[in-house]
Amino acid sequence: MQPVCSGQKPPRTMPQITCQGTTVNDLQKLLDEINQNLSETEDRGRVADYIPELAKQDSRKFGMAIATVGGQTFATGDADEAFSIQSISKVFALTMALGRVGDALWKRVGREPSGTAFNSIVQLEYEKGIPRNPFINAGAIVTTDIVLAGHKPKETIGEMLRFVRSLADDDAIFIDEDVARSETETGFRNVALANYMRAFGNLRNPVDQVLGVYFHQCAIAMSCVDLARAGLFLANKGVNPLAGVRIVPLRRVRRINAIMMTCGHYDGSGEFAFSVGLPGKSGVGGGILAIVPDVASIAVWSPGLDENGNSKLGTVALEKLVTKMGWNVFGA
Ligand code: GLN
Repeated sequence: MQPVCSGQKPPRTMPQITCQGTTVNDLQKLLDEINQNLSETEDRGRVADYIPELAKQDSRKFGMAIATVGGQTFATGDADEAFSIQSISKVFALTMALGRVGDALWKRVGREPSGTAFNSIVQLEYEKGIPRNPFINAGAIVTTDIVLAGHKPKETIGEMLRFVRSLADDDAIFIDEDVARSETETGFRNVALANYMRAFGNLRNPVDQVLGVYFHQCAIAMSCVDLARAGLFLANKGVNPLAGVRIVPLRRVRRINAIMMTCGHYDGSGEFAFSVGLPGKSGVGGGILAIVPDVASIAVWSPGLDENGNSKLGTVALEKLVTKMGWNVFGA
């Protein structure tokens, strides 16, 4: 049984809660408790195996980090270990693509939940090559095409890596070439999606170039601590508080967060909103980035996935944290 929290609702910016008579004024303690509680869990879901290199991940890994807009970072478990962010990279690619073409992006990608798997092809036929949203694979391949326009693939990959490094303020973030190669060798569905969209005229660059960039962006490897920091601009009205630099206007942050809430977990997006209640983006590496607007950015990593390809334990951990902190955006 989980302890039932009582007492005063915490101010949204102060990590202080009262739980069963004990004041937990330390997010660190709470994170360690969650880690400890979950460490015994047997059913951790299944590690992604359709990308062979990801199948090598150890399903017992668990890390979680919180970066607050005030500049503090809290971490537990394997939060300093780099993992493959996979589809979480779609948030950064969308941010860059919006920076390139602004609202013109919405002519080529929708912003409605798909209700289908992340790599589904059926909807594309009905909707004439315009993907439902930028977080399913087809939509992310279009945003990558937009970022690539006018550049060489290598330059674009470098630019994406530099963007994420600067957000997290960590030059150690890297691209795992083994993961990129593994997906290049086996990513037949993505090849199909890209060719299909190219046939509809919704890809402007050669398919192999777009996918080359896409596979490399998905292969960015970083830790929970880095990821939580990199997401801070989404929690802080568009400004990265670490560097004091505006990344995007507030209006755009609201929109990115809205799409994370409605589409960030594919066909599990409704369930994630229901149980966690935060904008979030998952990746098949087992990571989730979740945003508490105006308060904090959270990253969690546990490689075992549920049936929708979202981290099983990661979701449970977020639900526990959010419930205790009163961080659910639908009401504390
Ligand atoms: N690189 C993966 C793919 O394209 C990303 C999918 C994901 O993380 N959901 O299949």
